[in-house]
Amino acid sequence: MRIIFYSAEIYDKEVFTKVNEKFGYDIEFYECCLDRKTAAKARDFDVVCAFVNDKLDEKVLTILSSFGIQLVAMRCAGYDNVNTEIANELGIRIVRVPDYSPYAVAEHGAALLLALIRKLPQACARAKNMNFELGGLVGRELHGLTAGILGTGKIGQIMASILRGFGMNIIAHDIIEDTKWAKENDVKYVDLEDLWQKSDVISIHCPLTVETRHIVGHAAIRSMKNNAIIVNVSRGALIDSKALLHALKDGQIGGAALDVYEGEKEYFFKDWSTKIVEDDTLSRLMTLPNVIMTGHQAFLTDNALMNIANTTLENIKGFENGSELQNEVS
Ligand code: NAD
Repeated sequence: MRIIFYSAEIYDKEVFTKVNEKFGYDIEFYECCLDRKTAAKARDFDVVCAFVNDKLDEKVLTILSSFGIQLVAMRCAGYDNVNTEIANELGIRIVRVPDYSPYAVAEHGAALLLALIRKLPQACARAKNMNFELGGLVGRELHGLTAGILGTGKIGQIMASILRGFGMNIIAHDIIEDTKWAKENDVKYVDLEDLWQKSDVISIHCPLTVETRHIVGHAAIRSMKNNAIIVNVSRGALIDSKALLHALKDGQIGGAALDVYEGEKEYFFKDWSTKIVEDDTLSRLMTLPNVIMTGHQAFLTDNALMNIANTTLENIKGFENGSELQNEVS
């Protein structure tokens, strides 16, 4: 089996090369994203392995199908960047890694939240310069505040338990309520409007779908408390970033802790430090003291990478053997 990897970073190469010792696949790694321009590289391969910002739209899938590719192995949980309907029509099967480590993602969300409310980036920058003044560094405590969890799947439930550990009250909203979990963990499900209104911290853990795109927009933000903090380690387009910027500038909400951004495809995973960033919303967000942002790294732990590599290559093995594909999406 020949497998082409798109969007491959150094850590992908290292961990997949190690794990592949027991599978023995012929793997080629490419740093470029999969899109209409780069799809031609997949000629002569059997399987495409792709990541969060690769674009698997109708055109790309049609090109892959013309090369005889029948499997796309996503090495991530979300697959909002794949046109699954077209893939089905073309007979391309899509597999993914549904739960490589929900702890990695939830813990990163909690880290961002704490760093934001205790002003750690500013404090650390000062300390590095031997400036130990404390003016302007007054923080907030989580204890006794209310956290609203949007999406109580694997990651949302772990985030809820982490925030409970800080002494927060937990409310939640999901289209499918896990009432047993809620009862056991003293979590109250509320409707979406209540979640916006009552939460001091809103942490988003639902997938990006047609229904959830811009679920945090002008209307939702208007309902929120003036000092509410939004945490998004899920997908960028869950938040209307222009509405978020407007609200942050106007003091309608208290802050944002983000690992994802709706325009991230152009910028994330690359070094733009010496280039002109044309996305004014991204640039402006970065200037605000009440915004903290990382570049889609919530998944990036040693444990998660190992699990991703193992499950991805197991998925491919299952396809090769004609077994039932446990992690197939349709
Ligand atoms: P999951 O499938 O276990 O849980 C998602 C939950 O969202 C489910 O309970 C589902 O019912 C709920 N949901 C769906 N539509 C909803 C809606 N309209 N309103 C409210 N709830 C809704 O998924 P998970 O493993 O917890 O992952 C959640 C998301 O995290 C993924 O979809 C992915 O986009 C994102 N993610 C990000 C990273 C990262 O590195 N930043 C890594 C992994 C996953």
